[in-house]
Amino acid sequence: MKYLEEFRDAERVRKVAAAVAAVAPADRAFTFMEVCGTHTMAVARYGLKKLLPANVRLISGPGCPVCVTPKEYVDHAVALAREPGVAVATFGDMMRVPGSSSDLLRLQAEGADVRVVYSARDAVAFARAEPDRRVVFLGVGFETTAPTVAATAKEAAAAGIRNYFVLAAHKLIPPAMRALCESGDVALDGFLCPAHVSAIIGARVYEFIPRDYGLACAVAGFEPVDILQGIYLLLKQYADGERRVDNQYSRVVKREGNLRAQEVQAEVFDVCDSRWRGLGDLPASGLAIREEYAALDAARALEVEPEETVPDHGCICGDVLTGAKVPADCPLFGDECTPARPVGPCMVSSEGSCAAAFKFEYE
Ligand code: SF4
Repeated sequence: MKYLEEFRDAERVRKVAAAVAAVAPADRAFTFMEVCGTHTMAVARYGLKKLLPANVRLISGPGCPVCVTPKEYVDHAVALAREPGVAVATFGDMMRVPGSSSDLLRLQAEGADVRVVYSARDAVAFARAEPDRRVVFLGVGFETTAPTVAATAKEAAAAGIRNYFVLAAHKLIPPAMRALCESGDVALDGFLCPAHVSAIIGARVYEFIPRDYGLACAVAGFEPVDILQGIYLLLKQYADGERRVDNQYSRVVKREGNLRAQEVQAEVFDVCDSRWRGLGDLPASGLAIREEYAALDAARALEVEPEETVPDHGCICGDVLTGAKVPADCPLFGDECTPARPVGPCMVSSEGSCAAAFKFEYE
């Protein structure tokens, strides 16, 4: 298959790995962060860390949308699911994320109307077909999913569907990367920038990182050759003595991104401050539904009282999401916390660092 097999070809992988080893300056160590959860999974699945030189370390970042969604949001979703006449529609990853006293999967088993959907359009279809139910779509994700949710909001409003709502918690990746640069908690040398997100926002949005923080950036696709080429580009910037934004994934990502998707997103959402698991409250890092669409904003239109959020005990997902710790540092990893019995969101999500480490690296 074009654009797939050639990027998984073992011989090409070996050649790029050799190029990475050859370009890596030997006189110092490097730490790069893969920001995207899909990169984290691919790195673990293909064992790519084992192909890197000993002085090049790859750590995971806050690019799993379910993982960075704060527990307060889960508690809000749980409260909505407990309301009579409300159907909560969500991507499957959210079902088992623990709230303070319950999760959506447990509520579904207890009889609540919780439905797994593959897109926000499925939720709009439910609302259209069942006008007596209030259908709430859980708007969790990054810039990749926000435009599609915005499109469904416009579609529902235009069709006069008044029982479709969105509980918005979309987050923006560049402010999180800025926060990581500013925090200094982890000494980074560069970012392997996300692929899907960059298809929407473009490669140019990362230019502040080399300019303001002197770190290397490379947008890379998800296949093994893509990822290794991305790491090659990061190291090459150090070999060249120049930091910049390289784009390995130019077959998909343009410098300016997808302008139409950005436009649709801006019609429905305003940029707002947002709370991230691990990173805390970050200015201008989330999306809130604009006043024109307030009628479908579940946070404003549906009155519920979420329970008081109980802090996590033992789970160090917050530190894992910032790269300060790795899953194996968690005392619960692989013992009390497994994919079958997840304690935190990083073990629930198919893009979570703990799930990736358990599935592909745990022995
Ligand atoms: S192993 Fe489980 S408890 Fe530990 S950080 Fe990961 S998700 Fe949280």
